[in-house]
Amino acid sequence: MSFELRKRGEVEFLIIPSFEATGLVRHAFSTRKGGFSVGHCGTLNLGFNKGDDRKTVLRNYKVFCDAVGIDIKNLVASHQIHESDVYVAGKEDRGKGILKKSDITGKDALITRESNVALVTYYADCVPLFFLDPETPAVGLAHAGWRGTVKKIGMKTVKKMIEEFKTPVEKLLCGIGPCISGSCYEVDDPVVEIFKDTFEYWEDLVEYKGNGHWLLDLVKANKKQLEEVGVKSENVTVSGFCTHCRPDLFYSYRRDKGMTGSLAAVIELK
Ligand SMILES: [Zn+2]
Repeated sequence: MSFELRKRGEVEFLIIPSFEATGLVRHAFSTRKGGFSVGHCGTLNLGFNKGDDRKTVLRNYKVFCDAVGIDIKNLVASHQIHESDVYVAGKEDRGKGILKKSDITGKDALITRESNVALVTYYADCVPLFFLDPETPAVGLAHAGWRGTVKKIGMKTVKKMIEEFKTPVEKLLCGIGPCISGSCYEVDDPVVEIFKDTFEYWEDLVEYKGNGHWLLDLVKANKKQLEEVGVKSENVTVSGFCTHCRPDLFYSYRRDKGMTGSLAAVIELK
């Protein structure tokens, strides 16, 4: 089971079938299709720090939110720094980081049990992690690049949901969204050294290409990490999309050498 591509009007986005089946959430992972940005941000850029015009980005949010069925006023954006802190968001946070200034700083993961609080995180190759606890209910998002993966942000987000919401981990649904895949993500020795020090199963995550270059599979690293904390393998949906391989659908920091827009994950409880 993978993510599914949807089209409403000109906007295309991905959804997680197991999340949709619960009827509890509105959620999506954006593509670059259906927005108003031009140049390297063309067209559905959702990042405010990508050299794009703020008004255009807000227009993109409006058309994206309309397509997904989320009120733009409900959005709460993270402020990502490749760390592993988890922020518990509530109704008082709505608008922060999108429609108004945010005092939420340095949080790469957001969770909430309140309805109509739409969490937002940003991507262009890093791994998007989606969480839905259908029992409580509660939701979460986490941004896992290689640094966040090493700092175990996925595991920490699950632990925080257990601590804050008493989430039954065996019922927790997870989605691993579009990111740079294990066959495209090349790293050098120093990064692999850190993985060696962190994960005893590091050899399952890499493939040596010679000359100090390795391929690194962040999807596998994150899936294993979720399973280690008690998430059931069958409750994890992997997107099946590589951002690097699909310039038609996704921005890719690596492919576009930094000159790129932002994709976004969004989820709210109904
Ligand atoms: Zn690829």
